[in-house]
Amino acid sequence: MFSFTQTLAGRFAPSPTGPLHLGSLIAALGSYLIARKTGRRWLLRIDDLDRPRVVDGAADGIIRLLEGLGFEWDAAPVWQSRRADRYAEVLQQFKKDGLVYPCSCSRKEILASAPHAGEEGPIYPGTCRQGPSGTRQQFSWRLRVDQQPIRFCDRMKGDWQQNLQKEVGDFVLFRSDGIFAYQLATVVDDLDSGIDQVVRGADLLSSTARQIYLYRCLNREPPEYFHLPLLLGSDGEKISKRHGEVGIVRAENASEMMQLALVFLNQGLPPELIGAPAEKMLSWALESFEDPLLPRDDRRLPALLEGQ
Ligand code: GLU
Repeated sequence: MFSFTQTLAGRFAPSPTGPLHLGSLIAALGSYLIARKTGRRWLLRIDDLDRPRVVDGAADGIIRLLEGLGFEWDAAPVWQSRRADRYAEVLQQFKKDGLVYPCSCSRKEILASAPHAGEEGPIYPGTCRQGPSGTRQQFSWRLRVDQQPIRFCDRMKGDWQQNLQKEVGDFVLFRSDGIFAYQLATVVDDLDSGIDQVVRGADLLSSTARQIYLYRCLNREPPEYFHLPLLLGSDGEKISKRHGEVGIVRAENASEMMQLALVFLNQGLPPELIGAPAEKMLSWALESFEDPLLPRDDRRLPALLEGQ
């Protein structure tokens, strides 16, 4: 039933919930340089599933900017919003195999019944495992997890493990608002595109065990993972829309932002390229990239600006 492409590839998968941020540019650049250095294709995917959070025009803006910065992808971008049929097909198979069940718990009911809050919110206690027991009319679909800890070696963060049953609980693949969950969509898309290398921000490290579990359910090998350190704002939080204009990448500041992204990744530019067009810096980086130099620790934007 599942036929997935077999070609080595890395990818960048922005969520178009606002303009491109320096934090995302770092993920784009890191994944591009590592994919090319290891002889892989590099693909672009637009994670625009979560309709209520998508900002009109943001995806086109991100694509245009990446083009202007000199990135080259090897196939037409994949849009998650156009792939609902494919996610439905996989969910259907899981239903047939008895791996998922409908859940009618409301958020309030979950909060009230969950004994502890995990890093990602309440740990679902399995209330609907034997049949819907909540009060909500709209069902979500949850994947049954088991007690085996998921172990993996992240290429940046080292050995990692998570016990899904204890730390997450059965997790949602299809939300009660009718939207497929990120965990399912990302695994199906990565498999369908032949992605065997995932480079992204360390904020997604806590999703990785769930994704590896999904690969197991599909009888497939997970990709190798590189979770890059995060760029933080002056408040120590991951840089995002909340930090306002700081760190937004635009055509006008493309050169400065590319330079900052390279500094973040510890790829010291030769003096003659300081202030050069972003595209030139990127071609240099493709030639000179050294993965042992990649940083291990999160960095705050003000420190990055000072250290330039
Ligand atoms: N779309 C996700 C984000 O922008 C990234 C997904 C992924 O790399 O797996 O945070």
